[in-house]
Amino acid sequence: MENKSGRGAIRAKAFIDATGDGDLCARLSLAHRMASHFQPSTTCAKIAGWGSSGDTQDDVTGSDRLINFDLQQARLAHREEFELPEGFGWGRHVPGTRDVYMYAGTRIYHANSADGDDLTYGEIEGRRQVRAVMDLIRKYGPDNRLALVSLPSYIGTRETRHIDCLYRLQGSDVLYGKPFDDAIAYGSYRVDIHHQDKPGLTFKYLNGEQVYVRPGHPNEAGRWRGALEKDPTFYQIPYRSLVPQGPFGNVIAAGRMIDADEESFGGHPGHGEHEPDRRSGWRRRLSGAASFDNAEGR
Ligand SMILES: Cc1cc2nc3c(=O)[nH]c(=O)nc-3n(C[C@H](O)[C@H](O)[C@H](O)COP(=O)(O)OP(=O)(O)OC[C@H]3O[C@@H](n4cnc5c(N)ncnc54)[C@H](O)[C@@H]3O)c2cc1C
Repeated sequence: MENKSGRGAIRAKAFIDATGDGDLCARLSLAHRMASHFQPSTTCAKIAGWGSSGDTQDDVTGSDRLINFDLQQARLAHREEFELPEGFGWGRHVPGTRDVYMYAGTRIYHANSADGDDLTYGEIEGRRQVRAVMDLIRKYGPDNRLALVSLPSYIGTRETRHIDCLYRLQGSDVLYGKPFDDAIAYGSYRVDIHHQDKPGLTFKYLNGEQVYVRPGHPNEAGRWRGALEKDPTFYQIPYRSLVPQGPFGNVIAAGRMIDADEESFGGHPGHGEHEPDRRSGWRRRLSGAASFDNAEGR
């Protein structure tokens, strides 16, 4: 490892690769693959002057809207002028503030954050899009007093490498709630697929319903499967999907690098389907549970 103190080494009984991109596993030459297409990265931003939240919530996303201004429609209408890609934007007022908004509406397509050049491009492009959205609102929106409060220290990456582990979690495991005897995480949040080949995203629910959401267009509701006698209400993540194949018995692949196929990777739990604001990622929680099990020798 390298840090302010120079080059050093850490001795430990077990190592958790929590780099998101699987840098440790990749440098150990453990088998891995790049996602066939990356879910796009997003630079979030905190912006002041958004206006107070009120009863301006979007039915589908729960997102707060700018007062008297439909940002999604404006983005579609002026996207060429501001060079903004079409994409799913959402956000929330920062708790405890009156008008500071966390906006997650940038989309950096086809950039591999595990590659230095692509990552640099993504950081620059993400910040450019934040600026472009603010310029658009200043020009066409009702409020000219937006102020950038903060940018993230690091772009939000959704997907790069996946490590080949003892088991690859399948979309059907998640969508049909398959039980595992080594489950280390439970989830109930809908599967969301951020499309790379078309704008918007598709939500798949454990009860068989599905919704394609494309900002500025009507939602397309349907079913991804017919009715079952009993719908699953949750799904599980097995420990074996975090244990890399290969010679080392003391490495865990935690977080978004776990072995999951495209569809199962789109699932993440919350405290209820209708409370997306309270959800939190299973991908983050995995490392804690798995490292405990590993330390206990299980
Ligand atoms: C806008 C947005 C919204 C999202 N919403 C949700 C959601 O609601 N629910 C959900 O489940 N998921 C969501 N996700 C996905 C979720 O955020 C990620 O899957 C999750 O953060 C991945 O966590 P991670 O720790 O594996 O990787 P990361 O969050 O990418 O963290 C990796 C960390 O390792 C550091 N790092 C990288 N390489 C190295 C290295 N070589 N050496 C040292 N440090 C390194 C990075 O700086 C970073 O701090 C969202 C993603 C985005 C971008």
